[in-house]
Amino acid sequence: MTAINPKIRLFVEGAFHAGAVIPLAEDQAHYLLSVMRSADGTPLALFNGQDGEWLGTLSVISKKKAEVRLVEPRKPQVGTPDVWYVFAPLKHGRIDFIVQKATELGASALLPVMTARTIASRVNADRLLANAIEAAEQSERLEVPVVRDVEPLTKVLAAWPEDRVLLYGDESGNGLSPLELFAQLPADIAKWGVLVGPEGGFTPDEFALLTNKKFARPISLGPRVLRADTAGLAALTAVMAWRGDWDKKPRFEG
Ligand code: SAM
Repeated sequence: MTAINPKIRLFVEGAFHAGAVIPLAEDQAHYLLSVMRSADGTPLALFNGQDGEWLGTLSVISKKKAEVRLVEPRKPQVGTPDVWYVFAPLKHGRIDFIVQKATELGASALLPVMTARTIASRVNADRLLANAIEAAEQSERLEVPVVRDVEPLTKVLAAWPEDRVLLYGDESGNGLSPLELFAQLPADIAKWGVLVGPEGGFTPDEFALLTNKKFARPISLGPRVLRADTAGLAALTAVMAWRGDWDKKPRFEG
């Protein structure tokens, strides 16, 4: 494998094999040609979510069009923990932040849910996906989390897979601490979800709904009342640290 260490990493969709030519999306071509002023032949690191990371080179077609030519594989595809991040949408800037941080932390799917007290009225799924792709590129992930359309919490819970443990932030004191909870839960659980409420918290009806679900377990995140974005990321961190892949060492190339 050549020792080239590309400075730019991009998620591209397409079949990966030596010599494959993949057209770049308009925004990617703009970023490379106009923002980064990358020249023809610039080495790039590319991933598509299935075939690991490949070395590719930039092929400039015009001022606004470019494609990449795959050269050789650089890193094998490795799995990430299967943790769904379920969150009540917050106002614009904060939802972008949540999506970026949940992607960096390793969430496998992002599920925005409307709860009774959710303030945000609509969610721009394309914007969430763009944030997730950018965070996956930056954090050297080899896949982009699935970004689901926003749905009512009741619908998500009704369709929730029975074999996926859902930890929900319960600031009323009913939940166990991560230490107690993970000591209790079977070691072979591989499918997880974390859920926190909106700024105004869950309603009593939502707590009653969650309490009645066998797959749902309340988690306490310490004695302070955390903001919704902090709480969700803290719960995701707990799962990643205790049952995720934080036993693996980073392999940055700088
Ligand atoms: N109920 C309070 C309120 O109305 O302001 C706090 C809601 S809090 C800002 C949003 C969500 O974060 C809560 O619904 C809960 O899921 C989670 N959360 C916040 N602090 C927590 C804690 N110490 N333990 C567990 N969950 C917490």
